This record gives sequence, structure tokens and C-alpha cells, in this order.
Amino acid sequence: MKILFTTLHAKYSHASLALPCLAAYCRDIPGVSAVIREWTTNEPREQLLRHIMSEQADLVAFSCYIWNIEKTLRIASDIKKIAPDTRIVLGGPEVSFTIFELMHDNPAIDFVIKGEGERVFHQMVTTLIKHGASNLLERSLGEIDNLYYRDGDDITSGPLGKHFMELDTIPSPFEAGLVDLKKPLVYYETSRGCPFSCAFCLSSAEGHVRSFGMERIESDLMLLMRHNIANIKLVDRTFNFDAQRANRIWEFILEHNRNSHFHFEIAADLLTEENLDLLKRVPAGMFRFEIGVQSASETTLLRVGRTANLGRIFDAVRRLRAETAIELHLDLIAGLPGEDFTGFLASLRAVADLEPHVIQIEPLKVLKGSAMREIASRDDYHFSGFPPYTILRNPWLNFADISRIETIGRLLDLFYNQGGFAAALALLRRTIDTASLFDRLARQAGNDNLSGLSTRRVYELFARLAGPLVDDATRRLLDDALFFDYCRQEMPLMGKLPSFAAGHQAECSWPGPRELPNLPDLPADSRVKAFRCTFLKDYRREEWKNGAVGITFVYVSGAGRGLQVMVV
Ligand code: SF4
Repeated sequence: MKILFTTLHAKYSHASLALPCLAAYCRDIPGVSAVIREWTTNEPREQLLRHIMSEQADLVAFSCYIWNIEKTLRIASDIKKIAPDTRIVLGGPEVSFTIFELMHDNPAIDFVIKGEGERVFHQMVTTLIKHGASNLLERSLGEIDNLYYRDGDDITSGPLGKHFMELDTIPSPFEAGLVDLKKPLVYYETSRGCPFSCAFCLSSAEGHVRSFGMERIESDLMLLMRHNIANIKLVDRTFNFDAQRANRIWEFILEHNRNSHFHFEIAADLLTEENLDLLKRVPAGMFRFEIGVQSASETTLLRVGRTANLGRIFDAVRRLRAETAIELHLDLIAGLPGEDFTGFLASLRAVADLEPHVIQIEPLKVLKGSAMREIASRDDYHFSGFPPYTILRNPWLNFADISRIETIGRLLDLFYNQGGFAAALALLRRTIDTASLFDRLARQAGNDNLSGLSTRRVYELFARLAGPLVDDATRRLLDDALFFDYCRQEMPLMGKLPSFAAGHQAECSWPGPRELPNLPDLPADSRVKAFRCTFLKDYRREEWKNGAVGITFVYVSGAGRGLQVMVV
């Protein structure tokens, strides 16, 4: 039997962990050959269909999420029309609920696995091989927990319930060579499940947190670090649910890591003194923590069953910011019960005051199978009936409010999270806090299209949105500070300065290499260019020095290296 394991990612850089785990678990089944193929949702359906059919698989297994389910179902339908004998199985969070309806509406789907997939998939394949042509098949399938299948015209299932696997029984997909280690980002898990019960999150439905054994974790991590994977994203729902376990893994990474960058989702309120002591030793650029705050209102959090201790979260974030070099991403969800627009801005203000490196704002998604669905029906929520089930309005936010919050999130991505507006934002924040500033910028932006902008256009957008918020004297200084920020990102081209920097034309020059001061040793193939300009203040210093100052920017590039900008 040939099995094709496949999924459609939202972006090329993403990689599946679920498929390699399934393939690793099924490796011991005699007579099975398996391939893993991953594509993106951006590829045309006809092209995807051609790729899939060229594999000539007997069984096609799709991993389904909110971003790919619609396209997956259409492709599955086409596969069945072309090759009716090809069996199609779906698994993943987006198909683990309302399964009868899904199979009823989509006759091409032969099987759906609910919840954790490895053991069920293994049993299903073994049964298909053993009884595929006999009339014992349906009865045997009916003995498999959490498997939905067709029995003639009926849709039925084996016994349903939560059956948690011993994680160490899943062979390492990394050891088995089933994970593409050439991708810039590799997903990895040391545990499954979450001890918390946030109503909006599917991990709360899973419950029961389990860890791989430490020996297995260390051998997988060692393999990934030896391969110099650029970015390793741990998908553990709450990595530090056990503080001692977290410390042991962090210590192991500190001891052995060479060049990899690690991303962890943590609960900041669970960090202990021992954790914080160890984290002080993490070098800059090695760890990134994603921390869910979701709302700064305890009442709102309680209404969705989130028991996080906000005071402890904020204290821990302050300490991480002050005492460690870890990059901090804080998340907020807009649309939780009881939080109106003013309440949302208060949450944003509380988070922005902590000065994290990144602030991510997501409008609430009312996911299938989440407890949020019940809250939504009780509290008069309205959300899209199609994936990703985004909130449209609730008693506290109307559609215009939600649109404005989405615009604030997009502007934070452009102007705050990328980190290229330090001087301009510092100037504006002298008179207005970050939350109010981005609210006002969002009002200025209205329904403008904010995607697909070049670097220069993003800076021009900032000038256009922020300019009307300040008086004329400050406007001159803002344009100046913004131009300094721009020069730190990209070399201004002669005759093509950004519109807000037109007044600098007379003070600009493009020095040749010989006119530059001594530069540090650079790789031999480096291309070096420079730009010099006079600014109203010296924005390089914490306290901006008054009086015009000439600043030279040196731009160094080379094969396979990004642009490096030095300010001299
Ligand atoms: S939101 Fe985070 S803490 Fe809450 S249930 Fe989901 S994974 Fe766990």
C-alpha cells in the first residue's frame, strides 16, 4: 500500500510535524511505502491535484487546519472523481469535531480520525491491509477508537473517548529522516496537551499534558542543533508547565547550542526564580518567548476560564525584559466577553507599557469544538460561518470596532514589531502612549490597503498617518527622525528620497569607499555603499543631543548575507 501524507501550509516557510510523526509511527507496517509532500494554499488547485495524482497513492492522508480545510475538501472531491478507489483520510484539529456532518457533506472522505492520530492511523492501515477485500473490514474498523468510517451508506465510528498515547512510543521523525531539515524553520514538540482550560483554545479540549522522556528530548534536540537549524519552533502549548523540566531543557540547549534560534510558548506566571536565574544566561538572539496575555481584564479572562495570574505575568515580563536578552512576543485577543473597544485599548496599553519586542493582536476565532462556541451562542456573538470563524460582532464590539482593531494590529506589525521606527516612535511617545498612538494611526488609515508595501512606502505611510497628529514644529522633527530610521533600513537613492525627506536633499551625499572611516574587517566579497546626511538631532544616543549632526550610514551586502547597516 502506498500512502501519501500531505497538507497545505499557509506559507512556504512552514513545515508539518504531524505528518512526519504519523509516517514514523507507521514505518513498522509491512507492505507500506509512504511519502510526505507539503504544499501551500497559494498554489492553484489544478496544480495541486496533478502533484497528488502523480504520486499514485492508494491512501491519501490530509492534515487539516482552519487555513486549508476548504481547499482540501475540494481537492479530495476531485481525487475521488479521478480515482474512485483511492482512499482518503482526514485528521487534524479542523476535522476533529462535527465529523458526521463533514462526512455527510463530503462523500469523497472515507475516514476521519478524531484527535491524536498516530495509533488510530496505524490501526486503520493495518486493518485495511488485513481485511481490505473481505467482508470483515467494517466490523474490524469498528473496533478502532476515534475512527470514523463509512459502512455502506452509513457513517459510523469506533468507540469514542480520550485515549492518550505514551509519547515515547512514537519514533523520532527526525532520527527517521522524515523531516525536511533544509527549511529555515523546523517545528518540534517536547510535550502535548495543556493544563489550562481557555475557552477559545482547542488545546483546552485536549486536556492532560504529557511529556516525551528527557532522553528522547535531548537526543532530538542534539540532532537539530548539530544540523544548525536556523529556527526551531517548539509547538508545546505551555512549554514551562513544569518549571524543573523547562529548566533542564533550557540548560541542555545552553550547553549544546551553536547557531539555532528557539521559539517557546510559555506561561510567564509559571516562571520560578530558578527559571529566571537560568534565563539571565541566555545570549541575545537565542531564545524568543511568546506569552499569551490575551486581555488585561481579569473579569474578561475569568469569563473564558483563563486562570492566568495577570499580576505575576506582568512582573515576570518586566523582569525578563530588564534582566535577560530574550525576545518577548506578547499576544492579545480582541473580542473576548465583556471587553469593549475602550477595554481593548486598556489591554493594549498595559501590554505596550511592558515594552515587549513584538505585540500580536488577533481577533477572536470561534473555533469548532472549543467551549467558546457555547459562550458565543449564550452571549450573542456573531462570527463567520467559514474558517477561520473570525468574530464579526458581539455585544461589546461592532464590526467597525473589530476592523479598527485589526488595523491597529496590522500597523503594529508594520511600525512596531519590525523594529525600524525607534526614533520616530520615541518622539511621538513623548506626548502620547503607544495604545492611543496606534489607535489614532488606525483612524487615519481607515480602510487603506496596508499589505504588499515596499520599505519606502511603509515609511511614507507612517509619515502620512502620523503627520496630522503633531503640530508643525514637531512635524519637522518627526520627518527628520523618520528619515534617520529609514536610513537605518535602506540606502536612500539619489533623486529618489522618500517624500517626507525631500527637504534633506541639499544635505545628502553618497561618499565613496575611500571617504569612509575605518570599518571593521568585512568578508572579502562584501559590497560597501554609503550615505551621509545632516540631521536635526543625534538620534543614536538615548538622550538626543541638540544641534545638527552629520551621520554616515554604511551598507554592507554580500552573497547569501542580508543587508547590514552600520551607523558611523
Ligand atoms: S490558550 Fe494557551 S494556556 Fe490556554 S488552553 Fe490554550 S494553550 Fe493552554
